[in-house]
Amino acid sequence: MSLSNNQIKKHQFDAVIIGGGGAGLRASLQLAQAGVKVAVLSKVFPTRSHTVAAQGGIAAALGNVAEDKWLWHMYDTIKGSDFLGDQDAIEFMCKNAAKAIIELEHFGMPFDRLASGKIFQRPFGGMTQNFGETPISRTCAVADRTGHAMLHTLYQRNIQANTQFFVEWFALDLIRDADGDVLGVIALQIETGEIHIMHAKTTLLATGGAGRIFQASTNAFINTGDGLGMAARAGLPLQDMEFWQFHPTGVLHAGVLITEGVRGEGGYLVNSEGERFMERYAPHAKDLASRDVISRASATEIKEGRGVGKNKDAVYLKLDHLGEELINKRLPGIREIAKTFANVDPIKDPIPVVPTAHYMMGGIPTNLDGQVVLFDENAGEKAVNGLYAVGECACVSVHGANRLGSNSLLDLVVFGKAAGDKMVAEIAQSKAHKPLPANVADATLARIARLEKAQGESVPEVGAAMRKTMQTHCGVFRFPELLSEGVGAIDAVAQRAQHISISDKSQVFNTARIEALELDNLMEVAVATMRTAHARLESRGAHAREDFAERDDANWLKHSLFYKQNNAISYKPVRLKPLTVESFEPKKRVY
Ligand SMILES: Cc1cc2nc3c(=O)[nH]c(=O)nc-3n(C[C@H](O)[C@H](O)[C@H](O)COP(=O)(O)OP(=O)(O)OC[C@H]3O[C@@H](n4cnc5c(N)ncnc54)[C@H](O)[C@@H]3O)c2cc1C
Repeated sequence: MSLSNNQIKKHQFDAVIIGGGGAGLRASLQLAQAGVKVAVLSKVFPTRSHTVAAQGGIAAALGNVAEDKWLWHMYDTIKGSDFLGDQDAIEFMCKNAAKAIIELEHFGMPFDRLASGKIFQRPFGGMTQNFGETPISRTCAVADRTGHAMLHTLYQRNIQANTQFFVEWFALDLIRDADGDVLGVIALQIETGEIHIMHAKTTLLATGGAGRIFQASTNAFINTGDGLGMAARAGLPLQDMEFWQFHPTGVLHAGVLITEGVRGEGGYLVNSEGERFMERYAPHAKDLASRDVISRASATEIKEGRGVGKNKDAVYLKLDHLGEELINKRLPGIREIAKTFANVDPIKDPIPVVPTAHYMMGGIPTNLDGQVVLFDENAGEKAVNGLYAVGECACVSVHGANRLGSNSLLDLVVFGKAAGDKMVAEIAQSKAHKPLPANVADATLARIARLEKAQGESVPEVGAAMRKTMQTHCGVFRFPELLSEGVGAIDAVAQRAQHISISDKSQVFNTARIEALELDNLMEVAVATMRTAHARLESRGAHAREDFAERDDANWLKHSLFYKQNNAISYKPVRLKPLTVESFEPKKRVY
């Protein structure tokens, strides 16, 4: 394929949204309802976005089961984040949570109900009443298929509001002019291989996570960090990339997730001695402690020889005592997954599970309006004109060093709406589109041309090397020698990725080309992760170093910012001041 800039088709919109998951669709709905000309690009059909796989639920202090307050939710989220979360953003999210749930309900989302008719809520890890006193039921759910219900609801509302969808379009690069303003995106129509320019007054990245940098992952194959790659190539920073959540209950050898909702409903973990080991690691919260705590406990049990199964490399998740009726009603998808991927029926037998890469706490830094921000020590934060980010690809930061389960779906809808509102306001102020720079697509076309010419290794070969390097050198526990070696090792893989060749160039639907372009993005995420993990000399949340086992607030209560250019790392302060309430001072985190 050889193309020049003047052969490229151009389209103009007020707003272009890259990503049709929960975050993108909540924002696009806000824009379409305001009468703005909005396009949503998605590399897969929108309802196949990873949001569809969310099982357990969405948190909000509705108080339908027991007394609850948004301030308690805020405290739990700050504690869960190991005090790295920005307290103003967390207050904003928790305060707006109930409203967001009611709104989803009014959009038609079919929440499960209590006998009273109110929305059903279940317990989830780290969610408590009265500042850590007792576990609380705060997570609203649609059986174990909450994300499915939410995504379809949002999609249908967007159809009604006349959002324009570009389905199976792959965004390649942001357009950033000499002033640093973002003017849209360059995209590939997957079916035809044509390159298009989406010229926009405002652009929103909602491309989701990048869990595919690891070997064992609960993430869909499409979670390749494309938005982060685009941001990094455009000279923008990536924040807190060392923090990756490993979910304690991925099915052994399959990676498929078993929701925390199972433990919320009363399931628990046992080792080879039949011991409910979480009682030792988190005497109070037990199997409903925070995910990082449970993943480290499971990894320790396995390391010390108390693993289950042929290779003693898993622990068991036991739920048979919950009874067939409850399992069929509240956890039907889990029963199906266990049968298909672990060959056990959880009504009778426990499920072998292992800590599995699940969620990216880091991402593209934003403010509370979803605007992407740069940080300068003297000038503070400054928004990039025209660019927004929401959802798992963004870092606002409400999850800090460790996300609480069921807070991500909430993050999508609360900040998706906020970003949509801010974009509507920005569009109302800007009369004309800013002109595109000359030769706007040169760098992107060169990147694609490189693939056509290269004679190197294949995508699967280099992709496997990347996943193995990340898994070995940057997993649940992080060791100094492995991290040091890992930096060199991942740089070497990144070099190999520069010379990838796509073997069958005639392939229909450009799949080989897309996979190669996705690998470019995964590599940006992998390098940022390894380097920031190596640089952070403390343990906090999901980042657990063997050589610096304690949290170090004196030196490390700060966000990291990674830049692709020269692999530079800088830091910025955590916003410890909430909007209206008192700060929660950092203290030791025990469950
Ligand atoms: C198995 C699983 C279960 C989970 N369960 C829960 C839960 O119960 N509760 C909870 O709160 N969280 C849960 N999470 C986390 C949560 O689901 C995700 O963080 C969230 O759904 C991400 O939403 P998103 O809109 O940011 O991205 P996604 O839903 O991943 O959507 C990304 C979108 O971007 C598009 N895209 C990406 N790259 C490109 C490109 N280059 N060009 C064009 N389009 C592109 C994709 O097509 C897609 O439409 C779960 C996650 C997993 C993996």
